[in-house]
Amino acid sequence: SHVLVCGGTGCTSSGSETLISLLQEELKKNGLENEVAIVKTGCHGLCAQGPVMVIYPDATFYSMVKPEDIPEIVSEHLLKGRVVTRLLYVEDGGKAKALKDTDFYRLQHRVALRNCGIINPESIDEYIGTGGYEALGRVLTEMSPDDVIETILASGLRGRGGAGFPTGMKWKFASGNRGNVQKYVCCNADEGDPGAFMDRSVLEGDPHVVLEAMAIAGYAIGASQGYIYVRAEYPIAVERLNIAIKQAREYGLLGKNIFDSGFDFDIDLRLGAGAFVCGEETALMTSIEGNRGEPRPRPPFPAVKGLFASPTILNNVETYANIPQIILKGAEWFASMGTEKSKGTKVFAVNGKINNTGLVEVPMGTTLRTIIEDIGGGIPNGKKFKAAQTGGPSGGCIPAEHMDIPIDYDNLISIGSMMGSGGLIVMDEDTCMVDIAKFFLEFTVDESCGKCTPCRVGTKRLYEMLDKITKGEGTLEDLDKMEELCYYIKDNALCGLGQTAPNPVLSTLRYFRDEYIAHIVDKK
Ligand code: SF4
Repeated sequence: SHVLVCGGTGCTSSGSETLISLLQEELKKNGLENEVAIVKTGCHGLCAQGPVMVIYPDATFYSMVKPEDIPEIVSEHLLKGRVVTRLLYVEDGGKAKALKDTDFYRLQHRVALRNCGIINPESIDEYIGTGGYEALGRVLTEMSPDDVIETILASGLRGRGGAGFPTGMKWKFASGNRGNVQKYVCCNADEGDPGAFMDRSVLEGDPHVVLEAMAIAGYAIGASQGYIYVRAEYPIAVERLNIAIKQAREYGLLGKNIFDSGFDFDIDLRLGAGAFVCGEETALMTSIEGNRGEPRPRPPFPAVKGLFASPTILNNVETYANIPQIILKGAEWFASMGTEKSKGTKVFAVNGKINNTGLVEVPMGTTLRTIIEDIGGGIPNGKKFKAAQTGGPSGGCIPAEHMDIPIDYDNLISIGSMMGSGGLIVMDEDTCMVDIAKFFLEFTVDESCGKCTPCRVGTKRLYEMLDKITKGEGTLEDLDKMEELCYYIKDNALCGLGQTAPNPVLSTLRYFRDEYIAHIVDKK
């Protein structure tokens, strides 16, 4: 049998490394070291229940495993074949034996996360064993670069980093003049929104999928070099990416003449030093160039003049994680999932006041109610749901009245929020929405790079007004002034950080104005 132990950041911080060494010792003591393989995987998604362990052949799912449980797992389960029922995950319907039978999993559909928690991310053979690098092989031997772009266009895939720009269109814009100019393919892995950990989990659980997709993108636009810009605060992701790049080079899947096709492509890592603004595409490229990561005006767009002034495409981790599957299964397959204008699935990092904190992938168009009540297991302590923030500091809140709206890019914008990269923070009836707006604004004030005045000064003034209100010193006129300032910042800031910074204030003013008024009138 196989024992899968989660080695993602969540379970590692709750002690999964210790469990692995204890398990190794215990297997040895019982003479099972050659019979039972321990596989350290990426995230299974149910982070709140960590450390988690899955034992095959039955895929028995154990949660919140402690060091003292290991001898029993070995003596009962692995030696005698008896399930240790007290370690099974409990949900409304009772104890679930396998992860796939839980409410948490049944309603999910895993495309970007398909290998996370299943394979050993440090083994290229396991990735290849699940069909990995087959899409790259097919692209290089059977498809023209234009065929690849047409396939991505037809799939309807839109950028998962937040703005939702059609990925195929981006590739098409950068595809002219192949072979005559230096071009670059970049991956944005500078995930910085508070509460977001989707990209980290993909990199930790399935790093090769990103390398494969970037090579496919390189072939499509005619680039020979890729860069992954990953935040240094993700040490496990960085380590696994380094291992994956080394293995791919050894297998001839990165480097010169891949699959004997004459196509050369290699990838290097660049580490981000913790500035949120470096997730903005022009700042990210400026940072890779070795300069201070400040945004620059667009146009020119990166597809025309990007990294080192060359045509560049930049996609985020989750976007890339979809690409090999689209090539293998076809554009129609991908387009059959989701809503009319938002195809495929979306990964959400669900956290805050929710029982099943973790990573969830659902078809676009799933409602917030399904994510929170069914998959997320509802709100702890019998409290009522108040709102959920999508898109982190750039997004807005979704109040209870919109819980049944199908979530996609356009619907979220229509209710004053945005998809963002996929952080989903749940608030219950005890949460003060003015405090929430203040929290996000404090974050953007800290992270503003200071290059343009509307953002540098505007967000600071906005924060001061919010602070005054929460201290019971505000007036009703302040609410109108705040709204005016929000629109001024949105219209005049240079980059996405400033243009979206007022969103949490505007959406809480729209849905929870009574809470602002209560602070002013009741002076508290
Ligand atoms: Fe910098 Fe903010 Fe201006 Fe963006 S909007 S360039 S983060 S000051």
